[in-house]
Amino acid sequence: LNRRADATERLLDFAATYKKGKAQPGAESAKDEWRSLPVAKRLAHALVHGIDAYAEVDAEEARTQSSRPLDVIEGPLMDGMNIVGDLFGAGKMFLPQVVKSARVMKKAVAWLLPFIEAEKLRSGDVGKSNGKIVMATVKGDVHDIGKNIVGVVLRCNNFEVIDLGVMVPAQKILDTARSENADMIGLSGLITPSLEEMAHVAREMQRQDFHLPLLIGGATTSRAHTALKIDPHYKSPTVWVKDASRAVGVAQSLITRELVDAFMEKIRAEYADIRERHKDRGNGKRLVSFEKARAQRFDGDWANYRPPAPRQPGISVFEDFPLDEIVPFIDWSPFFNAWELAGRYPAILSDDVVGAQASELFADAQTMLDRIIKEKWLKASGVIGLWRANSLDEDIEVLHADGSVLARLHCLRQQADKPVERPDFCLADFIAPRDSGVEDWIGAFAVTAGIGIDAHIERFQKDYDDYSAILLKALADRLAEAFAECLHQRVRREHWGYAPDESLENNALIAEEYRGIRPAPGYPACPDHTEKATLFRILDATARAGITITENFAMVPTAAVSGWYFSHPKSQYFVVGKISREQVLDYAGRKGWSLLEAERWLASNLDYDPE
Ligand code: SAH
Repeated sequence: LNRRADATERLLDFAATYKKGKAQPGAESAKDEWRSLPVAKRLAHALVHGIDAYAEVDAEEARTQSSRPLDVIEGPLMDGMNIVGDLFGAGKMFLPQVVKSARVMKKAVAWLLPFIEAEKLRSGDVGKSNGKIVMATVKGDVHDIGKNIVGVVLRCNNFEVIDLGVMVPAQKILDTARSENADMIGLSGLITPSLEEMAHVAREMQRQDFHLPLLIGGATTSRAHTALKIDPHYKSPTVWVKDASRAVGVAQSLITRELVDAFMEKIRAEYADIRERHKDRGNGKRLVSFEKARAQRFDGDWANYRPPAPRQPGISVFEDFPLDEIVPFIDWSPFFNAWELAGRYPAILSDDVVGAQASELFADAQTMLDRIIKEKWLKASGVIGLWRANSLDEDIEVLHADGSVLARLHCLRQQADKPVERPDFCLADFIAPRDSGVEDWIGAFAVTAGIGIDAHIERFQKDYDDYSAILLKALADRLAEAFAECLHQRVRREHWGYAPDESLENNALIAEEYRGIRPAPGYPACPDHTEKATLFRILDATARAGITITENFAMVPTAAVSGWYFSHPKSQYFVVGKISREQVLDYAGRKGWSLLEAERWLASNLDYDPE
């Protein structure tokens, strides 16, 4: 171990000098010194520092000096990757750098592959992988940045990853695992309906007599949900993976005969404990009855307050919106979080621990952003609508100009036990009730900055460049959120026009210091994703903004945001949280659903275990 640590230090020192030399024009000596190194060392250095420019040339040189092409992979490339793994594990290296290292590995391996295939034909010798994992974003869901990062990290650790992509039906995942003789399956998902889909995959695995470990990951997943809703359906190991940095440890523990039993014993005990505590619900908060919650609704002061009428009611379309007008609205903090760098922008750039890595990533992002804009890689389009509206308890009627009904929106109400002065919120409370006689308004929006992204992602993947592919997706996501922010401001100042003189800095916008909110279906104030069907219909968002929705209401392109606009000065975000069976029944009635359907779509909000 000490020897390896020593070697690591030396490699790092050298590569750092080289890198500096490269960055300063004229510092040829470092470059010469670099070229004078044995090629095996050069490859390992390049890997550790993510320098991909010479990957193919060096791989070729190393190959001609080795007896088998596979030796290049199992020798210098794996040496470099081990160092990367050690540093990452020790918290001394961060994800962006790991993904860059993986790019070097991938390019070198791609160069060597035909030679390895030829060698295999000649000698029958096959390199050994650590294990094979089939990964997929489940049916109805499209988000895959996290999954792609996990794939890269696992590949770096010599796992063979078969990535089936997004929106993958259960049976396809299982069939692939069978035909590929996989060692485990990994599922990923971002939106809450995916939680149900994952439980479905687990049930199918049990029914079809699978014994492979099942890994669960993605933004909406959790240890508790895995323990309560997925693990019970599948007898073989089911493990929640918190983030990419844990993936290797978990996969390694599951694949290693000496480790798996102790590892699973710990996991099983943890999950059993969660289920036990859930049964007692000792610390669960008590709900009030739906009736009581309703009586404690938010009071919009409808006797005195007069809602503002929009200056430009109806639909407005923004086709091919200039990206450079969107950029100033970007909130950069979530960009760093997508790469698992903790901290807030801009402080993160000078952070003691991640500052250097964050700065490098940010510089790469700026360079790519410039090209996205200049070379028109992405097209942003959006549509907004402003209509008359009134509420009826938890519903909102959206009205045509003549007062006829365009659509009926369905909202959910908090049922938390609160002191009387604190309301049990429902979004409908922010709209004047029909019987108040007050004329009120609501808005809706759907925007994307991801039109045209696929061709570029493909281009990067063809070039073995996951780093750029992930960077581009993360930037497109940022641009979509920024576009939503930018249009919301226009709506407040011009289209609705209730805040014509608003002038807030981006920081203040990020802190939501303006009047009004833009809650998004699928988020805590309106957790039912199916309401996106109504949203998309009344905006005609597919025809007007080029956004479609999957059967589970994920938006495509992924870099898209949609939601409602509320103008009430006291409108605010809240979390609906848990609701009682009474409210679920009421909601099912309003939606025209069976209780079963309602329980499926509201699964994450049920305060009870459905039959
Ligand atoms: N600056 C952030 C903005 C996105 S998060 C970024 O660039 O990522 C804030 C958005 O999430 C809100 O505008 C709203 O659309 C949604 N949101 C947040 N909390 C919500 C809640 N409780 N209910 C509904 N939507 C919510």
